[in-house]
Amino acid sequence: MSTTEPTVFELIVARTIPAEIVFENERLIAFRDIAPKAPLHLLVVPKSSEYTNVAALAEGDPYLLAEIVTTAAELAAEHSNGEYRLIFNSGESAGQTVFHVHAHVLSGSSHGSGTFDESSLGFE
Ligand code: 5GP
Repeated sequence: MSTTEPTVFELIVARTIPAEIVFENERLIAFRDIAPKAPLHLLVVPKSSEYTNVAALAEGDPYLLAEIVTTAAELAAEHSNGEYRLIFNSGESAGQTVFHVHAHVLSGSSHGSGTFDESSLGFE
């Protein structure tokens, strides 16, 4: 059994802290980011915190990575216009703050320019 602190995303999975959950199955959960950087900003997250970043996930469970990608597309179609940006921050200097692999799904633009506020996504 792990003795490390649960990640904030594990606390959301366990309903210890609230989130606006938009999708859930056996292995994944998706919810709205608490600090949205686009009209639609979802996080698609494996329930397990086994993998800290996308490269580790690709090596350890490529099917789960594929499921994140297809779920992101489905959610962008359901909640926006089906066009989206998918971001996996990997490492502190790239903007990662939660070391439990997750995909940012960004979609929609109030200005129609297709640009998002990326100031908290690691690239200002
Ligand atoms: P990262 O910076 O690691 O790529 O992304 C972590 C994301 O998790 C950030 O965009 C941040 O706003 C979001 N986040 C952090 N804590 C919470 C929380 O308690 N609830 C929700 N819904 N999102 C969170």
